[in-house]
This record gives sequence, C-alpha cells and structure tokens, in this order.
Amino acid sequence: MEGYLKKSIFNDNIKVLRTIKEVRAEVNELKKRNKVIGLVPTMGALHDGHFELVKRSIEQCDYTIATIFVNPIQFGPNEDFSSYPRQEEKDIDNLDKLRCDAVFVPTIEELFPDNISNPHEILTVVSVKKLTEGLCGKFRPGHFDGMSTEVLKTFMIVMPDIAYFGEKDYQQLMIVKQMVRDLNLPICIEAVPTVREADGLAISSRNAYLTGEQRLIAPKLYTQLLDVSRQLSEKGIKCLPVLEKYEESLLKNGFDRIEYIAIVDKDKLTPVEYVENEARLLAAVWIGDTRLIDNVPIIPE
Ligand code: AMP
Repeated sequence: MEGYLKKSIFNDNIKVLRTIKEVRAEVNELKKRNKVIGLVPTMGALHDGHFELVKRSIEQCDYTIATIFVNPIQFGPNEDFSSYPRQEEKDIDNLDKLRCDAVFVPTIEELFPDNISNPHEILTVVSVKKLTEGLCGKFRPGHFDGMSTEVLKTFMIVMPDIAYFGEKDYQQLMIVKQMVRDLNLPICIEAVPTVREADGLAISSRNAYLTGEQRLIAPKLYTQLLDVSRQLSEKGIKCLPVLEKYEESLLKNGFDRIEYIAIVDKDKLTPVEYVENEARLLAAVWIGDTRLIDNVPIIPE
C-alpha cells in the first residue's frame, strides 16, 4: 500500500489537483496555448464506464481533466452518501494508466466553504425545471438540483471546451444539456453510450453492493428493456399495457420493487402514449437494498 501511495502522490504523469486555485492556474496556461480541454466529472469508484468517457476525451481533446468528488448535495438524507464506495488512490492510478492529464479531487470544504457542516444549505442553486420532475426526479427529490449545481460549479472552475457524460444516466445527461443551452455556457456536451458487462448489465459503482445471487438477476433488467423496445418499435402499439406487463415480468424475474418503467420523448422526457418518433425507455428497480437504473432507445420501424 505504501508503494501504491508513493506512486500516486509522486506521479510523473497525471497531475493531482486538490484546490480550485491549482485548477485555475493549470487551465489558464492551457487556454493561453489554445488547448482544447475535455472534462469528465465523476464520483470516483471508477470502472470501465468512466474509462470510456476518459478515453473519448483523450481522443478528442488536447488535455483531459477528470474529477473525483462524491457530491453531498445530490444525495437525499436516507441515501448512500456515507457508504458510497471511495477508492481515491486506485482511481488516480487507473486514470494515470489511461494517460489522463489531470484529476481534480477537491474536499467538501474546498467546494462548499460556507456550508461545510451542511452543504445542503448552500444559498445558490441552479434548478432545471420540467426535465427534473419525472422519472428519477420523482423518487429522489432535490437530487437533480444538487447534481446540476455541482456540475455548474465544476464547469465554472475547469472551463472545459467539451464535457463528457454517460447515457447510463440519461435524465442527468438531458438536464445538463438543457442547463448548458439555457445558460449559454460555451461548452459542448458529449454523450457516451452505456458500457455494459458481458451479460448486458450496465456497469455502475453501485453494482458492488449486489450479492452473488442478486448479480445473476440484475442483467435481466437490460434484456427486459430490450424486449419492450423491440415490441414498441412497431408503430401504433399503446405503450402503457406493454409497460404494465413488463412491470409484472420484472417482479417475477426476481426484482423486489419497480420504482418506475417509462417511455418518454428522447429530448423533453415527457411521457409518450404511442411511439411515433424515437423515444427513450427508462427504468429504476430495486434488488434488495440496491437501486439499479438503465435505459434504451426505442426506434420506430
Ligand atoms: P458517476 O461517477 O456515477 O457520477 O458517473 C460519472 C459519469 O460516468 C456520468 O456521466 C455517468 O453517466 C458515466 N457513467 C457511469 N456509468 C457508466 C456506464 N456504464 N457507461 C457509460 N457511462 C457511465
């Protein structure tokens, strides 16, 4: 472990930036040299899904900055903020192996100096309307305000040209895109398709919570979503009865609770009754104490 620490702290390659001042100094130099900056915001516990975003940024940009910050203001009071997996040294090492240029790893005090004891009491919040109301927003009140506020803060610190987000968190992606449009931020948002395990399960830091038995159930979410998507790609079929059938089917297949399964307009996230244009099918389900989300497109024939 000591060797591990040494390698990461005295790393020759990746720059580990811990303060806003350090990031701004680095970014100023890059901007003077007209370098294209790519940003990959993450909460750490990095896996192949995150690495895909980093690889995409390295391909497209001159300089890639990843962030690792478990954002307290996007977790509800009964959610897993304190138990969320944290493995900073390993993450930095993996980013270094990918040849990521820098990683911003702020403390809570660094990002919320006025509200260290309760960052939820931050006075300035950016809130995207409508898109945050349904789907995950309905079950995680305040989550998306916390997310968009922290993403905006990160944007203002890093000032990237391109920021990379995964389709795995489809609602989050649409909210960030909307925020960028509405606030005229000079940032291009790049969507990266969901990276999956060999059996189709969307890779997630929270998959680590699953027991061996639950892990065998989990990929059925994706296979069932693909079934629904296939059925509804035929035009003229009413969505609701199909969704109801699959809700039952998910429960029969071992999921303990269905939070939602919904078909929405792919951009506005409003409910769709019949699929006429490309739509998005999204679901959030529980296995024991673990919440899984996934989504797939529905492309009409
Ligand atoms: P998180 O650390 O969970 O906040 O995720 C950071 C970024 O990685 C977000 O833009 C996620 O959508 C993206 N991401 C997480 N898992 C995956 C995955 N399996 N495939 C693609 N992107 C992902």
